[in-house]
Amino acid sequence: MYLKRLHIQGFKSFADKTKIEFKKGITGIVGPNGSGKSNVSDAIRWVLGEQSIKTLRGNKMEDVIFSGTDKRKPLGYAEVTIVFDNKDGTIPIEYSEVSVTRRMFRSGESEYYINKNACRLKDIKELFMDTGVGKDGYSIIGQGRVDEILSTKSEDRRHIFEEAAGIVKYKTRKEESEKK
Ligand code: ATP
Ligand code: MG
Repeated sequence: MYLKRLHIQGFKSFADKTKIEFKKGITGIVGPNGSGKSNVSDAIRWVLGEQSIKTLRGNKMEDVIFSGTDKRKPLGYAEVTIVFDNKDGTIPIEYSEVSVTRRMFRSGESEYYINKNACRLKDIKELFMDTGVGKDGYSIIGQGRVDEILSTKSEDRRHIFEEAAGIVKYKTRKEESEKK
């Protein structure tokens, strides 16, 4: 599985419909300060369900919607679609390409889609559980996460290994059944 494509529209500085293609292997994003490099990684976290605006470097959730410039009006909603190549079947769904879309309006309501079918955020979380992908998966390593991985506290490192070992799914199910 690998990240194939991102479609961004109305998210932070991306007012226009923008398509970013990724190839297998290493991709670097370069550009001047303030050109939107970090907004690309914010878009990836957001579409995978990030709910913490602090993590997305804003003050309120609305801050992820294009807020306008001197020449351009603010937009009414933000939409991001992330596309994964799933030919190797890492994502447990019968599609060779898997897309996840999130759309959010200024009212704060978010809509989620898997391969264009409306779904709940919970469905996205479950689909990517134990794949390493996801807002807390080990495939996104923010600055703070480096400390977590290097931490000498075993509980901090445990979650990362649990996800890699593929047991988070079972742990979550057990916790949910114990709550009932
Ligand atoms: P650096 O090299 O300094 O890390 P960067 O390329 O990572 O820069 P970003 O942080 O991705 O830059 O982008 C910052 C820009 O995004 C700023 O110009 C900011 O005004 C713009 N921006 C953030 N949120 C919005 C929004 N909601 N609407 C419009 N522009 C936004
Ligand atoms: Mg940056």
